[in-house]
Amino acid sequence: MAKEKTLEDLFHDTLKDIYYAEKKILKALPKMKRAADSAELKAAFEKHHIQTQEQIERLQGVFDILGKSARGKTCDAIEGILAEGEEIMEEYKGTAALDAGLISSAQAVEHYEITRYGTLKRWALELGLKDAAKLLDETLKEESQTDSDLTKLADASVNQKAKAA
Ligand code: FE
Ligand code: FE
Ligand code: FE
Repeated sequence: MAKEKTLEDLFHDTLKDIYYAEKKILKALPKMKRAADSAELKAAFEKHHIQTQEQIERLQGVFDILGKSARGKTCDAIEGILAEGEEIMEEYKGTAALDAGLISSAQAVEHYEITRYGTLKRWALELGLKDAAKLLDETLKEESQTDSDLTKLADASVNQKAKAA
């Protein structure tokens, strides 16, 4: 018979999923910064790269709370989302639409992270892991803020530029 799986197992597995994803995102952000055309978008990617390092440390804090070692588990979703981002970088290189495409890729990443952190935070509360929930919530807020900053950047300039060319 299959071993009983619990909410705690789900929490731990999902934590490994987002840990893997964050480490991939950490590597992808400098590439996105290099690819970006506008100075503002480069700055946004740079800022989020620094935040991502802190987010990885927060996740290590959550593993500590669980008494588990920090280890990732392949996240097929982030592999796919980042592969689509690579495609945009290649196919739109040198065009006026590149930055709009990069923002759309980055927002796909943020939205994936928001679902993960939203779920993990709720499960942490359910499991009575208040300190873990606090760490997860800090990151959730950063991801949401990043998403809305990117929307503002797209609305303020990038989309019009892509359209005008
Ligand atoms: Fe993140
Ligand atoms: Fe995943
Ligand atoms: Fe993020």
